[in-house]
Amino acid sequence: MDCLFCKIAAGEIPSKKVYEDDKIIAFYDIAPQAQVHGLVIPKDHIADSANDINGDNSSVIAYIFEKIPEIARLMGVASYRIINNCGDKAGQTVKHIHFHILSGDNLSEKLV
Ligand code: 5GP
Ligand code: ZN
Repeated sequence: MDCLFCKIAAGEIPSKKVYEDDKIIAFYDIAPQAQVHGLVIPKDHIADSANDINGDNSSVIAYIFEKIPEIARLMGVASYRIINNCGDKAGQTVKHIHFHILSGDNLSEKLV
Protein backbone atom coordinates (compact mmCIF):
# COMPACT_ATOMS: atom_id res chain seq x y z
CA MET A 1 0.00 0.00 0.00
CA ASP A 2 1.33 3.41 -0.94
CA CYS A 3 0.47 5.26 2.26
CA LEU A 4 2.29 8.34 3.47
CA PHE A 5 1.61 7.74 7.16
CA CYS A 6 2.61 4.06 6.92
CA LYS A 7 5.92 5.32 5.53
CA ILE A 8 6.28 7.82 8.37
CA ALA A 9 5.43 5.09 10.90
CA ALA A 10 8.08 2.86 9.32
CA GLY A 11 10.65 5.66 9.35
CA GLU A 12 10.90 5.62 5.55
CA ILE A 13 9.83 9.27 5.49
CA PRO A 14 11.36 11.45 8.22
CA SER A 15 9.17 13.25 10.72
CA LYS A 16 9.67 15.40 13.78
CA LYS A 17 8.61 12.86 16.38
CA VAL A 18 6.90 13.74 19.63
CA TYR A 19 6.13 10.26 20.94
CA GLU A 20 6.50 6.68 19.76
CA ASP A 21 5.80 3.23 21.14
CA ASP A 22 4.97 -0.15 19.65
CA LYS A 23 1.40 0.86 18.73
CA ILE A 24 1.32 4.57 17.89
CA ILE A 25 3.44 7.47 16.79
CA ALA A 26 2.93 11.21 17.21
CA PHE A 27 4.76 13.82 15.17
CA TYR A 28 4.47 17.47 14.20
CA ASP A 29 2.38 18.37 11.16
CA ILE A 30 4.50 19.51 8.21
CA ALA A 31 2.12 22.42 7.53
CA PRO A 32 0.98 23.60 10.96
CA GLN A 33 -2.42 25.25 11.20
CA ALA A 34 -1.92 26.42 14.78
CA GLN A 35 1.02 27.44 16.94
CA VAL A 36 1.27 23.80 18.00
CA HIS A 37 0.01 21.16 15.56
CA GLY A 38 0.72 17.49 16.09
CA LEU A 39 -0.64 14.33 14.55
CA VAL A 40 -1.13 10.99 16.24
CA ILE A 41 -1.58 7.80 14.25
CA PRO A 42 -1.72 4.07 14.81
CA LYS A 43 1.46 2.51 13.42
CA ASP A 44 -0.53 -0.20 11.69
CA HIS A 45 -2.88 0.82 8.92
CA ILE A 46 -5.92 -0.35 10.86
CA ALA A 47 -8.36 2.09 9.25
CA ASP A 48 -8.46 4.54 6.36
CA SER A 49 -10.76 6.83 8.32
CA ALA A 50 -13.09 6.98 11.32
CA ASN A 51 -15.70 5.28 9.12
CA ASP A 52 -13.64 2.09 9.46
CA ILE A 53 -13.51 1.97 13.26
CA ASN A 54 -15.05 -1.24 14.56
CA GLY A 55 -14.82 -3.70 17.42
CA ASP A 56 -11.69 -5.29 15.99
CA ASN A 57 -9.61 -2.11 15.84
CA SER A 58 -11.15 0.28 18.37
CA SER A 59 -8.74 -0.69 21.16
CA VAL A 60 -5.95 1.13 19.31
CA ILE A 61 -8.17 4.17 18.94
CA ALA A 62 -8.89 4.08 22.67
CA TYR A 63 -5.16 3.74 23.31
CA ILE A 64 -4.49 6.85 21.23
CA PHE A 65 -6.88 8.81 23.42
CA GLU A 66 -5.29 7.40 26.57
CA LYS A 67 -1.93 8.68 25.33
CA ILE A 68 -3.03 12.08 24.02
CA PRO A 69 -2.59 13.85 27.40
CA GLU A 70 1.02 12.66 27.54
CA ILE A 71 1.59 13.60 23.89
CA ALA A 72 0.14 17.07 24.56
CA ARG A 73 2.42 17.44 27.59
CA LEU A 74 5.41 16.51 25.44
CA MET A 75 4.38 19.25 23.00
CA GLY A 76 4.21 21.63 25.93
CA VAL A 77 0.47 22.26 25.93
CA ALA A 78 -2.28 21.59 28.44
CA SER A 79 -5.14 23.10 26.43
CA TYR A 80 -5.75 21.75 22.97
CA ARG A 81 -8.28 20.67 20.35
CA ILE A 82 -8.44 17.16 18.89
CA ILE A 83 -9.70 16.94 15.29
CA ASN A 84 -10.37 14.00 13.03
CA ASN A 85 -11.23 14.70 9.40
CA CYS A 86 -13.27 11.81 8.04
CA GLY A 87 -13.74 11.72 4.29
CA ASP A 88 -12.87 13.98 1.37
CA LYS A 89 -15.57 16.55 2.00
CA ALA A 90 -14.41 16.89 5.60
CA GLY A 91 -10.92 17.72 4.38
CA GLN A 92 -9.25 14.35 4.89
CA THR A 93 -6.21 14.15 2.62
CA VAL A 94 -4.29 11.21 4.10
CA LYS A 95 -6.30 7.98 4.21
CA HIS A 96 -4.62 6.50 7.29
CA ILE A 97 -6.66 7.36 10.35
CA HIS A 98 -5.11 10.15 12.36
CA PHE A 99 -5.99 12.75 14.95
CA HIS A 100 -4.81 16.34 14.88
CA ILE A 101 -3.80 17.95 18.17
CA LEU A 102 -3.97 21.71 17.85
CA SER A 103 -3.08 24.36 20.37
CA GLY A 104 -2.46 28.07 20.34
CA ASP A 105 -3.79 31.48 21.26
CA ASN A 106 -6.51 31.78 18.63
CA LEU A 107 -8.33 28.46 18.39
CA SER A 108 -11.62 30.06 19.34
CA GLU A 109 -11.66 31.74 15.91
CA LYS A 110 -11.81 28.37 14.21
CA LEU A 111 -14.70 26.17 13.20
CA VAL A 112 -15.63 24.54 16.50
P1 5GP B 1 -5.89 15.48 6.89
O1 5GP B 1 -6.02 16.63 5.93
O2 5GP B 1 -5.92 14.16 6.16
O3 5GP B 1 -6.86 15.52 8.04
O4 5GP B 1 -4.48 15.64 7.59
C1 5GP B 1 -3.31 15.28 6.96
C2 5GP B 1 -2.22 16.15 7.55
O5 5GP B 1 -0.98 15.59 7.22
C3 5GP B 1 -2.22 17.59 7.02
O6 5GP B 1 -2.41 18.50 8.09
C4 5GP B 1 -0.85 17.73 6.37
O7 5GP B 1 -0.25 18.99 6.58
C5 5GP B 1 -0.06 16.62 7.03
N1 5GP B 1 1.02 16.09 6.22
C6 5GP B 1 0.98 15.80 4.90
N2 5GP B 1 2.17 15.30 4.49
C7 5GP B 1 2.97 15.28 5.59
C8 5GP B 1 4.33 14.87 5.80
O8 5GP B 1 5.04 14.40 4.90
N3 5GP B 1 4.82 15.01 7.06
C9 5GP B 1 4.07 15.51 8.09
N4 5GP B 1 4.65 15.60 9.27
N5 5GP B 1 2.78 15.89 7.92
C10 5GP B 1 2.25 15.78 6.69
ZN1 ZN C 1 -1.17 3.75 6.20
